[in-house]
Amino acid sequence: MLRWLFLRPGSRRAIPDALWEETLSISPSFDHLDREARARLKTLSEAFLREKRFYGAHGLELTDAMVVRIAALAALLILELGLVAYRGWVGIVLYPEAFMIPRREMDAAGAVHEYAEIASGEAWEDGPVLLSWPDVEAACAGYSVVLHEFAHKLDLLNGAADGMPRLHSGISAAKWLRALEEAYADFCGRVAAMETSTTCVVLPLDDYAAEDYSEFFAVASETFFTDPRALESAYPDFYRLLAQYYRQDPLGCAAGAPPVSR
Ligand SMILES: [Zn+2]
Repeated sequence: MLRWLFLRPGSRRAIPDALWEETLSISPSFDHLDREARARLKTLSEAFLREKRFYGAHGLELTDAMVVRIAALAALLILELGLVAYRGWVGIVLYPEAFMIPRREMDAAGAVHEYAEIASGEAWEDGPVLLSWPDVEAACAGYSVVLHEFAHKLDLLNGAADGMPRLHSGISAAKWLRALEEAYADFCGRVAAMETSTTCVVLPLDDYAAEDYSEFFAVASETFFTDPRALESAYPDFYRLLAQYYRQDPLGCAAGAPPVSR
């Protein structure tokens, strides 16, 4: 087992080719990348592994296969944005199962409510990313806790978790906001219809996207890379803006997506 390679502070080891190929074969999210982009993704993943620190919680033993899988997905989001998009934090904590997060909220009457919420992942502002390993492994079309939490990190980069990451020049903030609001309103309507319908209603995104703009952006991002056709079919304007923001197009046909730049 290669568990020591990337877990030593300061390790500058390259990801072994066999492990890299195995990692890319696990997820179809890498399928749109050509040979050159895959090579750049490997280099970026190695830089990510040098900069970040992984921790196993509750006795979870980490392996190179685990950390490389997470690094590759995290790097996929920033392949055309650069590692600078993940600046300001270092830690990634892996749990052996879904974990509890203590919450404390004050209601309108001023009463404080304390409770624990079960979570598969969480991204802290200026802090670590927390992930449940079984949920990392459960990725499928429309679901990837790694892509979801690291999309939150991009959203948080400019302060608020509001569904609007730091946009490149050339992407209109007003246009982004309009597309986000329209898609979110439509999606919330679909969720409400589903809850009252007696027939089966298929949603284009996980219903967690209806929580707020921040969750809509995170869920839309994981769908963009895991089930792009579903997102593009339902919300083509927001799909195109995500293609412009990520400077990638998993469908290879988003009109208006700028050419890849480095
Ligand atoms: Zn979230």
